[in-house]
Amino acid sequence: MRIIAIVRLLIRDDPSRTAQLRASKTALSLGTSPNSKEGKILLLQSLQNKTGMKYKIEKNIEQIFSRFLSEGKVTIRLKIPAHDIIISGDPVELKGFLKLLKSALENEEVKMPTVVARKTMHVLPPSNLRLAFAGRGQFTATTSLPLATKELSITNNALLRFDPRIGRLKFLQVLDLSGNLLSSLSEELSSLNVIELRLRGNHLGCTNNFRWMKPGSLRRSLKYLDLGKNQLEHIPCEVTRFFELITLKVDDNYLTNLPNSIGYLSKLRCFSASNNQLTVLPSSIVKLNLTTLNLCDNQFMIPELNFVDPSRLLKVPTLKNAASKIVIKASIPHYEGHTPLDVIYHLCSAFYCICRKAVFDSKCTYVLLYSLRNISSEFFYDSSSDHLIPTRFGVCSSACYTKLTNIAAAL
Ligand SMILES: [Zn+2]
Repeated sequence: MRIIAIVRLLIRDDPSRTAQLRASKTALSLGTSPNSKEGKILLLQSLQNKTGMKYKIEKNIEQIFSRFLSEGKVTIRLKIPAHDIIISGDPVELKGFLKLLKSALENEEVKMPTVVARKTMHVLPPSNLRLAFAGRGQFTATTSLPLATKELSITNNALLRFDPRIGRLKFLQVLDLSGNLLSSLSEELSSLNVIELRLRGNHLGCTNNFRWMKPGSLRRSLKYLDLGKNQLEHIPCEVTRFFELITLKVDDNYLTNLPNSIGYLSKLRCFSASNNQLTVLPSSIVKLNLTTLNLCDNQFMIPELNFVDPSRLLKVPTLKNAASKIVIKASIPHYEGHTPLDVIYHLCSAFYCICRKAVFDSKCTYVLLYSLRNISSEFFYDSSSDHLIPTRFGVCSSACYTKLTNIAAAL
């Protein structure tokens, strides 16, 4: 019997070697060795280990941890060598695999086919499975979802909840769940390597549960995200931690503002926030370098002059704000697991002055008309002021305040 799963080896007597081993897609074969002295064996073959790793199984399995079998997780502990084989795969396939393994262990007479290492090119099946279920009732709890699925589309299916089996599709690159009734997604999504995620036309704004945006491999893989038409009143600043994003769509929601840190998305090229209730943009947008920007059907208004009280600018800043300014000025890396979350959120809340210095006091801000021509080669914006859009800038000093008021007066 042969199954494909994600396998990680734990070498119990050498933790440093374990640290170097990564989980990889592996073919697990169970059968009899062509070498009669070895008897029944378990063979592991992966692209990293093309010749394969053979384990004798008779009287050599110390324990099988199968408590989480229903979630597709099993660990086989061997006596010699002192390895733990940590397997993550399709629960149905794993169940069959364990059944055969147990019967081989309990009954010496059970005959098993001969296992030989396959040639490299045949080791693993290609992960190019594309599955599409369009329309109500096309996808149900009993629909098969093979582990090798690369593209999955479940659209207009009236799905009420995120199917937990999707969280196990480790090879998934494209996930389209548009046009369903989802109000939240599973946290397990954060550990997938999805490149394209389409969620348009769901109800994510009903719960505002964005735990699927927590740190994980999704943060490093996602390039396309569509959150359009989800009744969203805000988008969390976590969205600006998906640093690989090239396209971000948040059209047809109820957004009144964008995260201050939107300018952190340095690879973003297409941004679309049409049909919302935006009145002003955060100043970090000046850092963006877009090819397409769509801001039609919002509520941008030419701002009234909102004078900053210059005496506020001369106040001694709090220690927290002073330190945050230094972190931003010196481009000191800050990320989850390394920097406390509340510090990250504080850094994300910065406004930027026209001199590009960070400002943390929202009372020291000034709304100025800014030209979209500076941030995008093509833009869609339905205003009589053509390319000028209200943007909230921080004011870092009396000198910058004077510059800002002069620019505003010249417009
Ligand atoms: Zn300044």
